[in-house]
Amino acid sequence: MPAPAHAFLPTMLDFSLFVEPFVHAFSCDQFVLPLPTGHRFPMQKYARLREAVRALPGIELTEPRPASRDELALVHDGAYIERVFLGTLSSGEAREIGFPWSEAMVERACRSVGATIAAARMAQKEGIAVNLAGGTHHALSERGSGFCVFNDVAVAIRVLQREALIGAALIVDLDVHQGNGSARIFSDDASVFTLSLHAEKNFPFRKEKSDLDIGLPDGAGDARYLDALDEALALLPPGFSPDMVFFLAGADPHENDRLGRLKLTAAGLKERDRKVFDFAHARGLPLVVTMAGGYGRDLDITVALHRQTVEAALAWQPHIAAAIAARRSQGNPAQAA
Ligand SMILES: [Zn+2]
Repeated sequence: MPAPAHAFLPTMLDFSLFVEPFVHAFSCDQFVLPLPTGHRFPMQKYARLREAVRALPGIELTEPRPASRDELALVHDGAYIERVFLGTLSSGEAREIGFPWSEAMVERACRSVGATIAAARMAQKEGIAVNLAGGTHHALSERGSGFCVFNDVAVAIRVLQREALIGAALIVDLDVHQGNGSARIFSDDASVFTLSLHAEKNFPFRKEKSDLDIGLPDGAGDARYLDALDEALALLPPGFSPDMVFFLAGADPHENDRLGRLKLTAAGLKERDRKVFDFAHARGLPLVVTMAGGYGRDLDITVALHRQTVEAALAWQPHIAAAIAARRSQGNPAQAA
């Protein structure tokens, strides 16, 4: 006996299976930061990443506008912003950032923050959006640090909050280094929950207090790392109901990384990404993905790891968009799922 016609009708969430993935990826590698020969910041990786994701079906590469001073001032100290723009940072301040000052450096920093702001706006509409740079989580309100001039995620959160596009936000910082800047910026702010899973003995050596810190020992490996991530995501306070998730998908926990030390494999990082996308999907939350760190001895490996995250974003986008639509149509708060 043939099955009744309605047996083939998809459920509401299953409609996502028939929708082509579509993800905006904001790139600012066109704005090159001039660095001296031998500098350890892997400037080339950004252009190579753009080339690596360009042909992925459903990727829409977009150049972001720069963040404005007004937007930066929602997080950063006005005098610090002024010193960055005018090139009057002290030698100590410039050394802590790790880049020689140039007008191009300022442009690049503003474009990178602009990319995360744009990705956050787009994630509201499309479920997921990506900044192919960003994740500059060491930047504090009044100073930069560790290759981070301004804190892109913090500024994006403040911009969207100012426009009442979001209330609460969750930062899932899985770069191998602690998100000390974000932790400090939001330390007294109950609307933003900062989660950092990092290598305990790594930079920054003076850690700040995130809402949830998990510091792992050197050489932790896939199984321990993934267990810790499960535990972290389960430890979010039951009353906390974010409207958006910001994922810092650093490639630097990888075993090939010069600065990482946690010794995750590519498969381990793929599973890490899956857990974060699954988390956003289960709760129907828009997800902003930033690339954060990645300093492979072999840059091809770093680019492949970042590309793997972008591929996961594409695979999950229709499903997360459908879950968000379902939640909104039911008028449920984000926590409902
Ligand atoms: Zn890092």
